[in-house]
Amino acid sequence: MSEQRINAALEEATDTRDVKIEVGALASVPEVFRENFGEGSIVIVADGNTFEVAGREVQRELEAAGYTMMEPYVFPAEPPLYAEYSNIEKLRDSLREHAAVPVAVGSGTLNDIVKRSSHECERSYMCVGTAASMDGYTAFGASIEKDGLKQTLSCPAPKAVVADLEILQNAPENMTASGYADLLGKVTSGADWLVADALEVEKIDLTGWSLVQDHLREWIGSPAELRAGDQQSTEHLVEGLIMSGLGMQSYVSSRTASGAEHQFSHLWEMEGLGKDADPPLSHGFKVGMGSVAIAALYELLLERDLADLDIEALKDSWPTREKMEQSVRAQHTSPELEEGAVEQTLAKYISADELAERLELLREVWPGLREKVREQLMPAWEIKEMLEAAGCPTTPVEIGLGWGNFEKSYRRAQTIRKRYTVLDLASETGLLDECVQELFAPEGFWGRVAASRAAADGAGR
Ligand SMILES: [Zn+2]
Repeated sequence: MSEQRINAALEEATDTRDVKIEVGALASVPEVFRENFGEGSIVIVADGNTFEVAGREVQRELEAAGYTMMEPYVFPAEPPLYAEYSNIEKLRDSLREHAAVPVAVGSGTLNDIVKRSSHECERSYMCVGTAASMDGYTAFGASIEKDGLKQTLSCPAPKAVVADLEILQNAPENMTASGYADLLGKVTSGADWLVADALEVEKIDLTGWSLVQDHLREWIGSPAELRAGDQQSTEHLVEGLIMSGLGMQSYVSSRTASGAEHQFSHLWEMEGLGKDADPPLSHGFKVGMGSVAIAALYELLLERDLADLDIEALKDSWPTREKMEQSVRAQHTSPELEEGAVEQTLAKYISADELAERLELLREVWPGLREKVREQLMPAWEIKEMLEAAGCPTTPVEIGLGWGNFEKSYRRAQTIRKRYTVLDLASETGLLDECVQELFAPEGFWGRVAASRAAADGAGR
């Protein structure tokens, strides 16, 4: 773990002041708390599992240090805590009965619930992480289901984060694997930012870029060891996840850490995929699948010469705003999702003339961009193998998605966020449908995956 890197990143962060991750870190909770919040009363918020894993000890440490402790707020262990708004209301109403500072002891969902509830009470909070399962510990925003739709509600990141490395190392395997997949997704999200930068849609911010990308290969380099519970690999993972969150704070946007692979994940989340599975399908597992999907699409685009497009023909066949809206509506089946998708797609809509300008620019920048993107990316099969080594699902069937729906996700994912990604590049160059068809053809990337999966299923019978 590079404390130096994390401390330098904290200088750039807007909300988080302190991060301490080491073996035995729970003993330093009182000291970290005092430095960031001073005296005052504290309420531990956990669920039945995380209270046993770390909450009880944190409570003891803080009591021993002389803090006034409220009765801990413990969500039931079963069924697994779900990130829905009613849980935020419950916690918020309870927090309003006193002025204690919340200390969240848990991982993704619990942290998100405390993050937003604290914000609604205008209180800052501290987090004690129990699994390296996502990059949200040091990120702002909470992913919550509200009014039947999974959405990101705004709220600042915690003021301080503490995690005991041994607890992270012994966390359930699927949680660590999820964190790994969330981090691996920065490979494709970086490529998307390179594209957006070259096309003058969104300039690269060097600080935000460096925090996430400079050491990425090192952080994701040992998936099999990570799965086996190796301490150094766990350190690498958690450092990457913490830095990724701090990168988002520094740039005040998730662009640093989220591209088209996250659009797949958000789409499936909004469609409720794996919500009722046990355990529920994690954010990271969806991001991992999205990363393989996007890396495979990039491969096909990079084979083509995008400096040699028929710009006039593309301009002539570019849909009007109205046609674009109709096509988005036709693709979604849920009314809430449809409205949001129309809004997001139209926010990034460009006219036929603007399209021609962008494609002219692409013609100029393509040779250099192609090189940069090739350097940033890894082959889709390699990403797939790394995910498998870490214990992540890598075929749609494993996450409960049919092949047909998976194929359609390429189009649908493009519509749900205004952020410019490779899905937009493929669509604007008239290549998205063609590439997707190629990916799912018998000799294409997904065609071959489907065939080998079918053969394995047959052999297992
Ligand atoms: Zn993520």
